[in-house]
Amino acid sequence: MLAKSTDDGKQAPAAAVSDGAPSHFIRNIIAEDLKREKNQGRVQTRFPPEPNGYLHIGHAKSICLNFGLAAEFGGMCNLRFDDTNPNKEDREYVESIKQDVRWLGFGWDDREYYASDYFEQLYQFALKLIKKGKAFVCDLSADEIREYRGTLTEPGKNSPFRDRSADENLDLFGRMRAGEFADGSRTLRAKIDMASPNINMRDPVMYRVLRATHHRTAARWCIYPTYDFAHGQSDSIEGVTHSLCTLEFEDHRPLYDWFLEQLEIHHPQQIEFARLNLTYTVLSKRKLLQLVQQEYVIDWDDPRMPTLAGFRRRGYTPEAIRNFCERIGVAKRNSIVDFAMLEHSLREDLNKRAPRVMAVLRPIKVVLENYPEGQIEELEAINNPEDPSQGTRKVPFARELYIEQEDFQEDPPKGFFRLSPGKEVRLRYAYIIKCVEVIKDPLTGAIKELRCTYDSETKSGSSQSKRKVKATIHWVSARHAITAEVRLYDHLFTKEDPDDVPAGSDWLANLNPKSMERLTDCRIEPCLTNAKPGERFQFERLGYFCVDSEDSSADKLVFNRTVTLRDSWAKMERAGKK
Ligand code: ATP
Ligand code: MG
Repeated sequence: MLAKSTDDGKQAPAAAVSDGAPSHFIRNIIAEDLKREKNQGRVQTRFPPEPNGYLHIGHAKSICLNFGLAAEFGGMCNLRFDDTNPNKEDREYVESIKQDVRWLGFGWDDREYYASDYFEQLYQFALKLIKKGKAFVCDLSADEIREYRGTLTEPGKNSPFRDRSADENLDLFGRMRAGEFADGSRTLRAKIDMASPNINMRDPVMYRVLRATHHRTAARWCIYPTYDFAHGQSDSIEGVTHSLCTLEFEDHRPLYDWFLEQLEIHHPQQIEFARLNLTYTVLSKRKLLQLVQQEYVIDWDDPRMPTLAGFRRRGYTPEAIRNFCERIGVAKRNSIVDFAMLEHSLREDLNKRAPRVMAVLRPIKVVLENYPEGQIEELEAINNPEDPSQGTRKVPFARELYIEQEDFQEDPPKGFFRLSPGKEVRLRYAYIIKCVEVIKDPLTGAIKELRCTYDSETKSGSSQSKRKVKATIHWVSARHAITAEVRLYDHLFTKEDPDDVPAGSDWLANLNPKSMERLTDCRIEPCLTNAKPGERFQFERLGYFCVDSEDSSADKLVFNRTVTLRDSWAKMERAGKK
């Protein structure tokens, strides 16, 4: 479960580097290359998203790795959009990706590149391969190509068009570009080896005919390079030294190497690492798109989504995500990281920065019978015990208060130390109160109000406050509190592995019907009246909350619960250490 433990054994053990992060095999390779002055001491990486969806937390791992290593070794990291699939790509995605990478804390100066910028260059590369007899125009349909390809256990068959002359291929490829042929009717294929044990080497398609409007090149092209033909060459054009990608491209590396060797151009070193997988989470853009399109979530930035936009809206900090990405490390073997570890990084960060306030999510009224009507006290409260520089604030206290419904039990079980009839509890920063009467709705029997008395000798911080009770609860003053909406979240999926479903069912069956709960009558300390979208707070005893950036307004504040206070990861770690 622990991502750290997934080293493949070939790598040096996790030695600490300067900033305290564990080292990993890619960092070691780059350090070694620099020592040997490979690439004239240059380190050039890139983050190469396809703009066909919003970035998710898995991409954050790749972003932190590529931008982080470049920064660490005095190199550069490009942002390059691998936009070779016009039907699935969109400007909206480009903009969101740029925003998310910046939000995570990384920049690329003017090095914003697009594979589509290289379409002409890639076309020239294709011509070169044709002239060398290393590529041919094929008239097989997509289905026929699949048939001819063979299987893992059987070799493929040569295409009947494989032996066309270079001249004929040049002519046909030119006419493909000129728009003479219907979509899907012809392809350009590399001429490698239909019997290769690696299926990627069985004369893979390099170009297909496709009439589509590209988000940047519009209708200028009606042939598009495949990802496999564009990716490695784009890296080469940019002078990338270390081309970091996820493990599923290991089998593509021989093909990328073949293209680069045949073209005799700069040859980046490809290094594969394991994708991030998280429990209770799907990290596939295709599935995330489906959740959005079929309205299982509100949008890409729904606070339950594992997208960076979703995490941002939920209240996650870029620091927490970067810290998490460092903690999980980089290894060669796939693993699944516990979501609780991400939450642990988040709590660590929010604990330091988030001011504490009191908020009551499910209010029940308390009237202090012996507290003077009209009297208001301003009680001193600490904004953040972790950070004295955040100072203190005044919290109004009056005769009518709200407390949390669950902090009162009429028939308390053994061990319940909060408020119950005849029992006492301390109000945070205030007094000890005692419940003397429970007032119920005569019709429904529901509890409407608690009548209590307060002990004026027990004010927090005063010299006579020594009297002890077993529990302290939070509260707000009824006439001062602001009413707000609070949204509580749970995992989007009920199973650790959302793909774990009985035969005949699919991952959507594991969607958690209770992943969001809206509470519309919450009462919040008045100091939050002017809270701004994106601001984060700890509601004492309840968790960390963030003002929603879409739905909150000055008239009606809306908060998202970012995470609860209970740290199951820290607990597991402690248990493990024992
Ligand atoms: P998805 O499978 O979610 O659609 P993708 O790999 O197709 O992802 P790209 O836009 O091609 O998405 O990814 C950009 C970069 O991010 C690639 O280098 C890819 O390897 C990396 N990446 C994508 N998903 C993960 C992940 N879960 N963990 C680590 N890196 C990832
Ligand atoms: Mg991809």
